[in-house]
Amino acid sequence: MTESDYCKRTAVTRLAVDPADRERLLTMVGEWKRGCQIAVNSAWGQCHTRNEVQQLAYDELRERTDLGSQHAVLATHRAAEAVKRARARDEDGDPDARPEFTAPTVVYDTRTMTVFDDRTVSLTTTGERVHCDLVVPDAGYQSQYLDDDRWEPSKSTLHYRDGDFVLHLGFRTPRSDPDPPGEDATVLGVDLGVDNLAVTSTARFFPGGELDHRQREFADLRADLRTTDTRSARRTLRRAGEHADRYARDYLHEVAGGIVEEAERHGCDVIAFGELGDVHDLLPDAGEFHEWAFERLFEFVAYRAAERDVTVVQVNPEYTSQRCTACGFTHPQNRDVERTHFECLKCGNEANDDYNAAKNVAFRCIRRGPLSSRGVGATYCALSSGRVTPDGDFVPNEELAEVPKT
Ligand SMILES: [Zn+2]
Repeated sequence: MTESDYCKRTAVTRLAVDPADRERLLTMVGEWKRGCQIAVNSAWGQCHTRNEVQQLAYDELRERTDLGSQHAVLATHRAAEAVKRARARDEDGDPDARPEFTAPTVVYDTRTMTVFDDRTVSLTTTGERVHCDLVVPDAGYQSQYLDDDRWEPSKSTLHYRDGDFVLHLGFRTPRSDPDPPGEDATVLGVDLGVDNLAVTSTARFFPGGELDHRQREFADLRADLRTTDTRSARRTLRRAGEHADRYARDYLHEVAGGIVEEAERHGCDVIAFGELGDVHDLLPDAGEFHEWAFERLFEFVAYRAAERDVTVVQVNPEYTSQRCTACGFTHPQNRDVERTHFECLKCGNEANDDYNAAKNVAFRCIRRGPLSSRGVGATYCALSSGRVTPDGDFVPNEELAEVPKT
């Protein structure tokens, strides 16, 4: 099972900590921050995946900090996430962008934390383990996870805030497998890009201009402030970064909601994306930021879709932008040089480039279709006006609720 096979929830609970344990936890917080920083400093400009950072920094953390072996591993992973985020914000790898760990937190997992049925928790520190009570309000929502064996504790974060220790206790439960789509299932194809962040096979367009624009603005600001190494410049930059981040996440959530809504409106059983790994090959304009944005968008869609029994898949996106959906003729010059307009050299079919690609993405996951390398057993691709098979058999929609176009 991978991470995305689980539903996750967080129960925020205060800890009842005696003075001796308090000192242990505070020391732990300090070592954790130091460990994450050491790992970031080593990895910066070198690598950013969990495995790479772990390989590079683990021994150093064991040597230079009092973190135990598992917390040393977790710190390298935390550092990898931070480096990845910073790279996504700034493509040039500007040294000023190197993350700094100032937040008083520690990441725990089930090897460093045990939650007991009597509502106590045991936490690894640099010294003795701390065993303390979870302070759960009567009838608090936390009980529904603590008292239900279907939810198992998972990755959690300890926070020190205003003199209190608060545990953001993670719980997870395996997602129930959605029924495999039936023979007559319908697929919503989604094409991702820069100008249009997402376009569906039902011709719903989610523009990407504002997201791209704000990201560039932030990169420019960083470039401007590069030579101004003052406190206030760093603060300005950090705030601008957080602001750009928040906008991106909010917008990605909005688009994810729109895509799932589109799937429901058209009775789709499957939402298909092109595989995200090939982003750079397929989209020369897309950089680290878009790679990050596409991954989040996919994650947000998968999360929402799972609650509605809609399957989300990734298909091989090769040639989806070059193939004519009318006659099947595939050629790179079917697209104009600006890569916005599709015109088939063979049959003259004209379409928006991204919309054409979205339909091909849907066809890709239809069994026996012309591009069926990995069929999921579906039959139809959802269009705005109805459903169509790869062979062109069309079933018009009877009636659809009006949803405003984004
Ligand atoms: Zn054609």
